[in-house]
This record gives sequence, structure tokens and C-alpha cells, in this order.
Amino acid sequence: MANTHTPDIVYTKVDEAPELASASLLPIIRSFASAAGISVGTKDISLAGRILAAFPEHLTESQRISDDLAELGQLVKTPEANVVKLPNISASVQQLVAAVKELQGQGYAIPDYPETPASDAEHEVRARYDALKGSAVNPVLREGNSDRRAARAVKAFAQANPHRMGDWSKDSKTRVASMSGGDFRSNETSATLTDAATATIIHVAPDGTETVLKDAVSYPAGTVVDATYMSARALDAFLHEEIDKTKAEGTLFSLHLKATMMKVSDPILFGHAVKAFLAPVFEAHGEELAALGVNPNSGLGDLLARVKDAPEIVAAIDKVMATRPPLYMVDSDRGITNLHVSSDVIVDASMPALIRAGGKGWGPDGKEHDANCIIPDDSYAPVYDETIKYFKETGKLDPATAGTVQNIGLMAQKAEEYGSHPTTFEIPADGVVKMVLDDGTVLHQHTVEAGDIWRAASARRAPIEDWVQLAIDRQRAEGCEAIFWLDETRAHDAELIKYVRPILKAKGVADKFKIMAPRQATRATFETIRAGKTSIAITGNVLRDYLTDLFPILELATSAKMLSIVKLMQGGGLFETGAGGSAPKHVQQLQAENHLRWDSLGEFCALGESFKFLADARDNAKARVLGEAVETATQGVLDHDRSPGRKVGQPDNRDSHYWFARYWAEALATQRGDTELAAHFDPVAKALAEKEATILAELHAGRGKPVDQGGYYHPDAAKTDAIMRPSATLNAIIG
Ligand code: NAP
Ligand code: MG
Repeated sequence: MANTHTPDIVYTKVDEAPELASASLLPIIRSFASAAGISVGTKDISLAGRILAAFPEHLTESQRISDDLAELGQLVKTPEANVVKLPNISASVQQLVAAVKELQGQGYAIPDYPETPASDAEHEVRARYDALKGSAVNPVLREGNSDRRAARAVKAFAQANPHRMGDWSKDSKTRVASMSGGDFRSNETSATLTDAATATIIHVAPDGTETVLKDAVSYPAGTVVDATYMSARALDAFLHEEIDKTKAEGTLFSLHLKATMMKVSDPILFGHAVKAFLAPVFEAHGEELAALGVNPNSGLGDLLARVKDAPEIVAAIDKVMATRPPLYMVDSDRGITNLHVSSDVIVDASMPALIRAGGKGWGPDGKEHDANCIIPDDSYAPVYDETIKYFKETGKLDPATAGTVQNIGLMAQKAEEYGSHPTTFEIPADGVVKMVLDDGTVLHQHTVEAGDIWRAASARRAPIEDWVQLAIDRQRAEGCEAIFWLDETRAHDAELIKYVRPILKAKGVADKFKIMAPRQATRATFETIRAGKTSIAITGNVLRDYLTDLFPILELATSAKMLSIVKLMQGGGLFETGAGGSAPKHVQQLQAENHLRWDSLGEFCALGESFKFLADARDNAKARVLGEAVETATQGVLDHDRSPGRKVGQPDNRDSHYWFARYWAEALATQRGDTELAAHFDPVAKALAEKEATILAELHAGRGKPVDQGGYYHPDAAKTDAIMRPSATLNAIIG
């Protein structure tokens, strides 16, 4: 795919806050790169772009756009890939519907999202939309494993300017509750395939009737294939018990899932919690609720909207709520509870926030309280449980002295649970689920009941071997503690350990690594960083996601500033910016008062790595000079405290880009490696310094007043440009 038209660096076009930031930063990057003969192209992976690319036949010739995600998916499988990937929207149904409506309003004749598809045509449209939902981008691009850490400058800044943390008290009632059986963790079976195989997943009813749930799932030789299920009955019993215990303990009931990423299983788990919490209402009014179209998976918010004209049901809900423990709130001012929308509380962000606050969550009274954190599946819950126990024993972590945790994550080729959506099923009837290979071998088999959630997940050999090698390289570079977070008593992890141990032994580095179950690894890691030292957490895909929020949020207050490198298995590089999302709240603030508090530090770090990768891959000396200067500029932004403030009137994202450009130009002008670049950037640096007052004044004109981008999901490019590049003086210098 990569041909002569592939730009040297591909910068992704995304949504919300990072896309606003790009409107200001990308012209600067392009201008600086072009001075070194380096081209920077863009590929559109925004939600709106992906929608338009999915329905070409509904669009006019001039409205049609290419399927950039598919093109990028090809590019990342080539050694030429050098992609800077910003966070994009992982759309919920509500967001998807809103984006469709906005595009229709702009004159794009795309079809409505069929809520309840009836005809074949509607099913086909629905399938196309469903493919855009949830986490649809990262799994396509992540053709490599992940290396995430705080850049040295970022960590040093956080130690010198420690963020505030809530105090932990020994008698905090906050705790984690997870199931002691019947969950994904305890029902898991796992096997490594000796040969390549194609599997069929079959449901066999007690009368012998066979239903194929999925066929033609193919795996190369050496793949670790797991299957497991969550018992609906055990889940419900657990939820009822924890509702009662929460009430007795006087804490907030707080449920933590990942419904965005685990888009098939977790909305169902969420629905069970909604139903358990309002169990008496569902028992008394089940039929009326069904007639009103209530689906507990859609949350309490949707339920309340549907029953608002049924006073009897509303009264029944109020009555039940009065007997229940208070709910952990998403927004107590607006009455949005933990159970309103499944994607409002996302475990990898919500648990660290609660832990950082000293184990406190917001209650319906608008005050902070201890919480019972419900994380039904026990696979990864012990990480949070042990963190909470550790802080209760030893007090909060001190970010001024704490060391750092790096992560090497097994991520490539849709590894583990994060690739399990196409093989996850809510079981329609009692029976047995079997995974049968083409040679007739029954690889996995579980006896299930109606409503159970069954899933298969896999990890391929090449990614696993690459991951272990990446860990070896990183440990060698750091010379520090390195722990494989694997639990030999868990079926899947036991199979991975069979890969890990022989590789470490063959490379003669077995003594440099430990293998520990997540609970023990959590404690050991906190002890290491409390002593100011570095630890490398070598984890699977889910813990990669969770830990690169947990530790950064405790160490740096945010995961948005992380360096996030994906060394693609075919030799290319993918540089993700930060480990956070697209910050929708920041867009609201920009629209209301023309202040963008998004911090582009993650982009600066990714950009520096991208230039350095280009330098190595193509032996491009100018790229190395640019990359090193980006690092100096990033350090300058931190040292001089040029990052955006949170409030209007303070410097914002645009100011920080001016300073970044200036420090970058100064670093280029004064370096000795490339006299041509130095000569080019000398006048740029001087002009930026000379015009500082004018540029900052132009950037600040109009702050505090509302602005209109002409769209949310598909904003108007010219309007956005005017908002994000208001300094004619800066624009002229950048050229
Ligand atoms: P989020 O966008 O990371 O936002 C959480 C909060 O983190 C923000 O409200 C903001 O705090 C802070 N934050 C994140 N990045 C920041 C930055 N660069 N500068 C300053 N503050 C920053 O998480 P979310 O609300 O869970 O997710 C939003 C959307 O992003 C969803 O559609 C989600 O699916 C998607 N997402 C994408 C990726 C990816 O593509 N890699 C990863 C995660 C999430 P304040 O509001 O306090 O300023
Ligand atoms: Mg995460």
C-alpha cells in the first residue's frame, strides 16, 4: 500500500478537543517539517469521517471521502508506517445517532441509524453503523505491542510540582467487591494450539438441537485460545448481596465497568446491575416496562425518560430508591447517577480518580463519601483492591518522591479480551457451548444457562514473542525491576507463562524478571515506587489499559501526558498521544467561553518520537535534529510553565503552541548539527520572540465569549481555523 504518495509522517484527524488542538498545532508542525523536506499528511479517523466513508452510495461525488481507516490499517502493516495517532471518539449509540443527525443536517443524505432494524436493507445499514461503534479504530491500527512511560522531562516536572492527593485513613470504609465464583476469571479454560485451526462455536440445547453461534474463526499455530463465561445467576446473586452490604456499611454503591471497550459484554453486566438495583420495580411492573421499550442495558437515564408519564412506576421507583444505598454520582448537580449511562463510569479512569481522592466518590448529596466499588469479574479487580488496601495501610503516595511505573503491553492483533467482541454471546437458552476445531477436537466446552455471557479470546504467538522481546529490550535499557503481571493459577496466564519462561531462559535474562499475580505485583510495584525507584509492568492488554491510567494518575495527575509508542511488528512506528481520550468537556468550555484547556504535551512527546523514528528508519539526519529540538521545546514548555490553564483568562492550548513553536525554533536555530536548518530557523526564532506581545494579544482577543465551530462531530474547517488560529502575526511567521 505504501507508495510514493505516502507522506513521511501521517498525523490523524480526530474529534473533539484533540482535533481542535490540531487545528492550531498541525500547521506549525507542517511548516517546521517542510523546512527539512519532511512531509506530514493526514488521515481522517474521526467518527464523522468514518460514517461518511461507510456510505459512499448515499453521497454526491464531491461529498465522498476515502476510507482512511482502512488505508491506515494497511499502512501499519508495512515498514513505511510512521503514524501519530491522537485519541478519537469511541462512539456510544447516542453519540453515533447524534453524529448522523448532524451530518444529515449538513446535507449528507446518509440513512438514519435503525434502532430496531426490520428489513434486510435496514439490517445491512445497521451492521455498517455497528462496525463504527465503540472502540473501532485502535484495534485496526495496533499492529504492534505497546511501550508506555512518562518521558523523563514529564516525570521530573511532576516531582518538582507535585499534584494534590486526597488523604487515606486507616478506617476508610472504601473497598472493592468482586465475585468469588461464577465469573469470567473462575470459569476460564485455555489452550495453546499446536497447529493452525478453524473453530466453530456451537450452542447445544438439552434436546440436542445445535445452533452455530459463530463459524470460521481461524487461528494460526501457537495461538493461545481461551473461553469462559459469566454466570448470570451468580452475577445477580452477587449484585443483590452487595447492594445490601453497601446499605449496611453506609457507603456509596459504585459500579465500575468498561462498556466502551468491552462493548458486547459490559453493557449487559451494567443492565444486570440496573435491574438488581430496581428489582422490586421490575418484578411488579415488568410487562409495562417492556411495553414502554425499557431495556435495562440502556441505563437508568433511559428508563426514567421512558416511564416519566407512568406515575405508578415513578412512585414505585422512588419507593425502592429510598430503601437502597446512595448511588455514586457522575454529576450530582444534574442528578446523573452511576447507573444512568453505561459509558459514564469507565473503570480505568474512575477507579484511579477515586483512589487519588483518598477513596472518596461523590454522593447524591453533592458530598464525598466512602464507596463500595463493584467490579464484578475478579480477573483484574485485585489490582484496585490491593491498591486500596496498600494505601489504607501506608497512607497516600507522595508524587514528589515516588518513582515511576512503565508498561510493556501485549496488545498486537487484538490480543486477549479486547479482541473478544465478535466471539462474545449472551446465551439464549440453557445448554452447552462448545468450541470445536475443524479436525473435530472440542477445544473448550461450558455448561451454561440462559442469560450467561460466554466469550472466547485469543492471543497469537508472534505478538506474544514480540512482547517478551520488547520487555527484554526495555529492561536492558532501564536496568530496573521488571515484573510480568501473570497469575499462574489463571488458565490464560498459565499458557502465557509457558511462552515467557523459555524465552527469558534462552536469552539468558531469567534472573532479571519476576512473574507475579496482579495482586502481588500491585503491592511489589507500589513498594518500589514509594522508594523512588522504577518498575516495568509487563502485562496483557487489559492491564496495559488499566495500569497506564492508574499509575500515571497517581504519579502525574493525568495519563494524558504519557509517551505511548507502538513498535509495529512489520517495522513501522505508531505514536499514540497520551493514554487518555478526547476530552468532550473541553469542547463545551471552548464553545461557551473560547478557552481550550487541552494540553498537547502528549502530542509533543509523540511528535519527537516520530521524528526520531524517521531518523533511524530512513537515516534522515534532519529528522533527528528536528526530533531532538522537539524534546528541548517540550522541556521548555514544562520548565517555563507554559502549559494551558483550566480557566478562561489563563493561557490556553493556543498560547502553549506559540511557546512550543518558539522554543522549537530557538532549539533549531542554536543547534550545531545542521547549519542549513539553523540558518532557516534563526529568523523564525527571532521573529517569534520579537512579536511575543502582539501574538499573545491576538491569541487572547475574543476570549470569554462563545464561539461557533459550525458543528460538533463535523465542524466547519474555516470556522475552526479562525477560532484556533486567531493570530495573523503568528500565522504569517509560520508561513
Ligand atoms: P478523557 O477524554 O481522557 O477525559 C477525561 C478527563 O481527562 C478530561 O475531562 C480532562 O480532565 C482530562 N484530560 C484528558 N486528556 C487531556 C489533555 N490532553 N489535556 C488536559 N486534560 C486532559 O476520557 P473519557 O471522557 O473517558 O473519553 C472521552 C472520549 O475519548 C470517549 O469517546 C472515549 O471512548 C474516547 N477515548 C479514546 C481513546 C483513544 O482513542 N486512544 C482513549 C480513551 C478514550 P478535565 O476535564 O478535568 O480537564
Ligand atoms: Mg485506559
